[in-house]
Order: sequence, then C-alpha cells, then structure tokens
Amino acid sequence: MENTRNTKQKQLILEVLQHTNCPMSINDIYQKIVSQIPHIAKSTIYRNIDALLKQNLIDKYYLNDNELFYQIKQSSHEHNHYVICDCCKKMFQLPLCPIHTIEDAMKKEGFTISEHYIQISGICKECKAKHE
Ligand SMILES: [Zn+2]
Ligand SMILES: [Zn+2]
Repeated sequence: MENTRNTKQKQLILEVLQHTNCPMSINDIYQKIVSQIPHIAKSTIYRNIDALLKQNLIDKYYLNDNELFYQIKQSSHEHNHYVICDCCKKMFQLPLCPIHTIEDAMKKEGFTISEHYIQISGICKECKAKHE
C-alpha cells in the first residue's frame, strides 16, 4: 500500500505548511513530521516535497544563501517573496513583487518567464540597533 502511505505523508507535510505563515526549510518540516512519524527519512520528505511541487500545491523559495524553503501555494495569481535577516534569521515578506513589471516588458519581447526568484540579503532593524 505504498500509495496510501505516500498520500498520508504528503497530507501531513501539507498540514504542517498550512499552519505557518512563513516558508519552511526542509529541516523545519522534518522536525515537525518526525514528531508524528518517528522513523521517517529526510529523503522521503524530499520525495514528497518534489511530488507536491509537481502537483503545484506548494511554492519553493531560495532564501538564506540558496537554502530552499517551501510554502503552501497562495492563490494562483498571487505569490510572495521573502528576505531573511543575516543575523537573527527572522523572515520578512516583501511588500510586492517587482518582477511583474519586468515580466510584462519581456512578454512584449516574446519571452515568457516561467519562474523567478529574488535574492536579497541584509539585517533587520533590531539587529542593526544591536550593532550600532
Ligand atoms: Zn535580525
Ligand atoms: Zn515575484
């Protein structure tokens, strides 16, 4: 009953991601899942995450020096970008996606952008205050 088990694991990963506002790393997800399925391998989680990405149920982000983070898919038109503070690793959501303007311009050139990532690094207000 491989399929049933897979479905259950996927369901659990989706549940974990539904209960958070911020994208989670594989390690974050693993910590949550392992408390419910004690002997689950990290590779199993990777496999399920891949399947969920293919099913278009979750989004992936490259943050924090290209570490991958995952989040439940927002509405099909909307998506968010995040930055992580280099010091305390707190996550912030960007107020908007600046790529849309670029995307429109590229469309006029006949180029279709399928995916895009925004990589921003820096430190937050609290950490900046500590260093001043
Ligand atoms: Zn900080
Ligand atoms: Zn965007």
